[in-house]
Amino acid sequence: MTNLANEFGSVNLGQGFPDEEGPESMKQIVGKAVYDFPNQYPPALGIPELRKAIATHSKRFSGLPVDWQTETVVTVGATEALASAFMGFLNEGDEVIMLEPLYDSYAAMARRAGGKIVPVSLQPPDWNIPRDKLEAAFSPRTKAILVNSPHNPTGTAFSKPDLEAIAALCKQHDVIAICDEVYEHLTYEGTKHISLRTLPGMAERSIRIGSAGKTFSFTAWKVGWATGPAHLIAALAKAHSFLVFTVPSNLQRAVAHGLDHESSFYCGLSTSLQAKRDLLEGHLKTAGFSTLRAHGSYFITADISKLAHQDEKDVEFCYRITKEAGVTALPVSAFYVSDGAPRNLIRFCFCKNDAKLEDAAPAVKQPT
Ligand code: PMP
Ligand code: GLN
Repeated sequence: MTNLANEFGSVNLGQGFPDEEGPESMKQIVGKAVYDFPNQYPPALGIPELRKAIATHSKRFSGLPVDWQTETVVTVGATEALASAFMGFLNEGDEVIMLEPLYDSYAAMARRAGGKIVPVSLQPPDWNIPRDKLEAAFSPRTKAILVNSPHNPTGTAFSKPDLEAIAALCKQHDVIAICDEVYEHLTYEGTKHISLRTLPGMAERSIRIGSAGKTFSFTAWKVGWATGPAHLIAALAKAHSFLVFTVPSNLQRAVAHGLDHESSFYCGLSTSLQAKRDLLEGHLKTAGFSTLRAHGSYFITADISKLAHQDEKDVEFCYRITKEAGVTALPVSAFYVSDGAPRNLIRFCFCKNDAKLEDAAPAVKQPT
């Protein structure tokens, strides 16, 4: 859809990246570090400054103590942490439970690592977890469950009772939880991000994945991290060392500085993004969409039923509005691996300039 948006010069509210960039201090460190430090391979698991900063950040925001030397690893974005987790944890035929809709790299990478995806569909409009289906998804072959909260593409943040239900099943079936928490600082209206890893008995069987791209609005930097118990981090780190070995050191230095000294940036992001969510939501409603509430992340989902041409599905609708209205969104069905995808929902990204958010929705007119 980004290629199509570029081809037609449309406003790209499809791909999730912010228009407003992160702290200036971090940009300066990236440039200066190239001159001040050796430009040779940094340690495979990450530079100590960053690993220590990740451990401190984890303790500060989730309460979880983390040993920086055995329980952290720096990765090429959250994407590589996910890939390395699948490579490190899965054997051929192992089942991985995933709540869908799901972020697109999960299924591809888990399958590549020999895993078999067992999808459980969240139920719109509230994107609830169907407890009976979740329970039924666990089997003797289940190795892991992937839990992304706050969630892409739905913008939901899982509640404590939902997380408790997942934790109980993980413990009962001896399953690893891979927690994708890249949007941990992006929750709205007092919704509190709760990490599954903080629930009783989960610290030893789960990893948390973070992203400097999301935390600092520098998605181009592709610096991420994983924290977790030493045995899981060691398995992930083995895959990491053969996939990419290490991560550019000047970017690591800047992220270490950011985690330690720019918390006002990432703690303040949710206030500005909540205003953007509200702005876009208001315009989408006026244009005739029904919107589903986003409690976290960069994304809001909207129902196209009142605006779609007869029999027009989400994919065709997204193509049409890119070409005709100059606005790009993503079809939510693209985030499904099973056949049960809704075909009336599309995802808008709201971490964009206000002018784009104001202009985009009114351009999508009701069919005549
Ligand atoms: N997980 C989720 C849920 C995402 O939305 C994204 C991408 N935006 C990633 C992981 C990948 O993050 P990164 O750019 O740090 O690789
Ligand atoms: N995670 C972002 C999204 O969901 C973008 C990442 C990508 O384009 N691969 O839109």
